[in-house]
Amino acid sequence: MRPAHALIDLNALRQNYLLAKSLSGQRALAVIKANAYGHGAVQCAEALADIADGFAVACIEEALELRAAGVSKPILLLEGWFEADELPLLAEHNLWAVLHHAEQLNQLEQTELAAPLHIWLKLDTGMHRVGFSPTEYADTWRRLERNNKVASLTKMTHFARADEPDTGRTEEQLAVFAQANEGLNGPASLCNSPGILAWPSAHGDWLRPGIMLYGATPFSFVQPQAEQLQPVMQLESKIIAVRELPAGEPVGYGSRFITQRPTRVGVVAMGYADGYPRHAKDGTPVLVDGQRSQLIGRVSMDMLTVDLTDLPGSSLGSTIRLWGAGLNASEVAAWADSIPYQLFCNLNRVPRRYLG
Ligand SMILES: *Cc1c(COP(=O)(O)O)cnc(C)c1O
Repeated sequence: MRPAHALIDLNALRQNYLLAKSLSGQRALAVIKANAYGHGAVQCAEALADIADGFAVACIEEALELRAAGVSKPILLLEGWFEADELPLLAEHNLWAVLHHAEQLNQLEQTELAAPLHIWLKLDTGMHRVGFSPTEYADTWRRLERNNKVASLTKMTHFARADEPDTGRTEEQLAVFAQANEGLNGPASLCNSPGILAWPSAHGDWLRPGIMLYGATPFSFVQPQAEQLQPVMQLESKIIAVRELPAGEPVGYGSRFITQRPTRVGVVAMGYADGYPRHAKDGTPVLVDGQRSQLIGRVSMDMLTVDLTDLPGSSLGSTIRLWGAGLNASEVAAWADSIPYQLFCNLNRVPRRYLG
């Protein structure tokens, strides 16, 4: 069998969730949209079932997959419903919904429902992607308060730059949030992972941890809280061929890498069809039997090449870790002009194996 696989450590996932909660003492919806950032949504939901306060996903399709698998905890749809005909299903399956624009409000008012919905009313505090503007917010809140199709109301916003603590932007968003919510009573939810890790003053009542659950740091600098995260995914494969080249020889497509010295090249069964980033540069770190080495040459669809010259103990069959414990996906992502979120979501073809 092809040796490429992703080992998913569900105990690490649980530890990361508990870390999010311990930083604030508040309730937390585990964000498991996009197939739990490539980690397997059903498996992750089941692993967290006894400790999570609930889950958050991007759409009803993702939520119904979890309900079909027996997940009974609350599930929040982060963009609410897209079409009014989803509303009866939301009531039937007890799905909570973000409400972020006026047309959704009209649809809610015009649809008969078997049960009232838990609504998270989204405020645009400056990210300018989704949410009601501060001037519309209080009126919309009061209109929902009077609506008997609403079981509960939660205040919500989202940060654009919580991973960059020195920009002043999060303070500005917090000020807009406080002002727009003056006089409105209800729980509040503001924080994604960087908010949870770096903005204790913003924690509110409900956290929404995503990337931190999977053990990758959202920061591009060493951040003390993020240092406590445990990588959940180990993306691994093996060396399937070794060759010795003299100096001056090209390696791989486009001859991007030229050997500068006599070089021992290891060929690894891992490529961009597996989700390894094709834009990873020469020098991108990899672990060879636990020791650091580096990518040389362009990543192909099914294979990539690494430098084994300084690792004489390595050979055919040596284990290559592309990211995981000892090599954070965030570090690899930076070498590929990407972010760990995208590396995880792009995971493809490789079988996932579960630990714990
Ligand atoms: C995806 C998402 C999150 C989780 O963000 P992370 O940075 O992965 O923690 C939280 N809130 C909303 C609205 C999201 O869309």
